[in-house]
Amino acid sequence: MDAYEAAFYEGLKPDRDLTVWEWADEHRYLSSKASAEPGKWRTDRTPYLREIMTVLSSNDPTQRVVFMKSAQIGGTEVGNCWLGYIVHHSPGPVLYVMPTVEIAEKASKQRIAPMIEESPVLKELIAPARSRDSGNSLLTKEFRGGVLMLTGANSAAGLRSMPIKTLFCDELDAWPLDVEGEGSPLALAEKRTTTFARRKIFLVSTPTLADTSRISIEYERSDKRRYFVPCPHCGHMQWLRWRGYDNDATGGRAKEYRLVWADDGKTKAAYICEECGSYIEERHKTAMLRGGEWRSTAVGDGITKGYHINSLYSPAGWKAWVEILQEFEDASKDPALLKTFVNTTLGEPFEEAYSARLDAEGLAKRSGGYELLTVPAAGLVVVAGCDVQRDRVEIIQRAYGEGEQSWLVNYAVVHGDPQRPELWAQVLNVLDMEFQHESGAIVRTYAAAVDSGDGETTHAVYAFARQNRHRHILAVKGMSQAGKPVLGKPTKQDINIRKQTIKNGVELWPYGSDTAKSTIYQRLKNTEAGPGTFHWPMGLPAEYWQQLTAEKQIVRMLNGFPKRVWVKADSARNEVLDCEGMALAALQYIYTRHNRQSFWPQMRARIEKTAEKLAESAPVEAEIEQMPVPVAPVGRLSLDGWRRG
Ligand SMILES: [Zn+2]
Repeated sequence: MDAYEAAFYEGLKPDRDLTVWEWADEHRYLSSKASAEPGKWRTDRTPYLREIMTVLSSNDPTQRVVFMKSAQIGGTEVGNCWLGYIVHHSPGPVLYVMPTVEIAEKASKQRIAPMIEESPVLKELIAPARSRDSGNSLLTKEFRGGVLMLTGANSAAGLRSMPIKTLFCDELDAWPLDVEGEGSPLALAEKRTTTFARRKIFLVSTPTLADTSRISIEYERSDKRRYFVPCPHCGHMQWLRWRGYDNDATGGRAKEYRLVWADDGKTKAAYICEECGSYIEERHKTAMLRGGEWRSTAVGDGITKGYHINSLYSPAGWKAWVEILQEFEDASKDPALLKTFVNTTLGEPFEEAYSARLDAEGLAKRSGGYELLTVPAAGLVVVAGCDVQRDRVEIIQRAYGEGEQSWLVNYAVVHGDPQRPELWAQVLNVLDMEFQHESGAIVRTYAAAVDSGDGETTHAVYAFARQNRHRHILAVKGMSQAGKPVLGKPTKQDINIRKQTIKNGVELWPYGSDTAKSTIYQRLKNTEAGPGTFHWPMGLPAEYWQQLTAEKQIVRMLNGFPKRVWVKADSARNEVLDCEGMALAALQYIYTRHNRQSFWPQMRARIEKTAEKLAESAPVEAEIEQMPVPVAPVGRLSLDGWRRG
């Protein structure tokens, strides 16, 4: 442990005044193995990296530096120069974290080893990994006064090492969200730096998806620096962006800035100046980069400096503007390529179309055309979904028709204590309600799914489902994993609340809530009447719409793999969406009992028949006025199927 201890104390000493870029210009050599431009490092080549290297220097007070970048812009090289600087000039304990241990091993071999090999001062300070007793291995490199440790964000042990002065987090967006059940690997790693007042934390990544991009979250928290460069025509300082408009222009005109083809043959590209509108040719870029400067565009948290750069800034000889335009043309036809373009060329997080939150007001505008508690002609069977809360049950009744086009018929909230039978009697009243079908027939709920999920109310729901089995009331349990069927195979629950085995135990149906919600959200996007389309009557409360759109699906990295998950704001309620999902599960239940092909025509025939019978009886009703004899409806669709009145 002596070397670690020495490194610890060395790390507390102040350093001589020298910046990372000054060190790199003097001592850094790029190897032909790891670089397209081997030879001596020149910060002049990538002027936008200079300030980042300055704030990483040990005499600069900045503690946290965030670099959100496009690919191949020199981001990793900044980190390498910084590591070399620390080893040679500012020793102390350093932790270099990559997404996984395997990637760290690979980087050690392919990037760190060649850097040491090619730079004489580093080669002198770090013994080769293979030599006996060198104190060096693939993941640990000792040097005078310091130690460089490499690890993966998937290794809790690696992140829990000794105190560190310097933390380098590379490709942050590829890190797992959770490391071996111990929470965020970034939080775990940052905790190691708290001993050092003069600590440095450098976070680097190409962003990924907007909802989960850690580098984007960190950048948003920072002072959001952009690299402003002068227009060669008017001198106006601006940062280079892909395409867009700036509406807050003082001159009353929207400012336009974008990269465009400069000729019809698509051989030349130009950037339109946001101020004078002139075409800026790429040959001006070298001078523009030299004349550029970082300017913060936000206040930030006061301790984090954030830098963002995209491929439009690529130095001459790297990625050209025409290549970027060409890439976009290819990508605009393919969503997967578009994501890559946005992430790796523009260096920006990608907002996927499907993850966009549905707009409650927009949906509400689509309601109408029929009234609450009535069923339009094409609605053939009513199903219900019931969400059980500690103080109420929320109920959705929806009529489905051919192609699973559907019409909301009723939305009810029954208040009360789920432990009391009174509440369930009221729920049953709602499920027994008669609805007026457009044909003249009367229809009632055919099947209902009731959520049994919450532990406190589970047994009350079981009891309700057991007592009303003949009415096709199902106890369901939500399964949030992706890919589960909307309704799975039931299991017998024959233990009661006192853990006693009971006869005629209730069937518990697994309900694929993730699949159901995905299906519903997909269907909510249909604006034209047709298969799958959702319809709503006039007059639903705003609450309904807010709850329906309370969740959104996003992609999260779980254990390093992207997973689609549903998320909602902590405060948001979403019972309506759950109810709609369970109503869909109730429809699936009907499919388990009927032939899917013949079901809809059969239901249509039944409704028409009832309507006819009711029409025939209409004159009778007229006679009733003279002869007061109570007449029940001729027939109705009920929970137990069809029955004559
Ligand atoms: Zn200009």
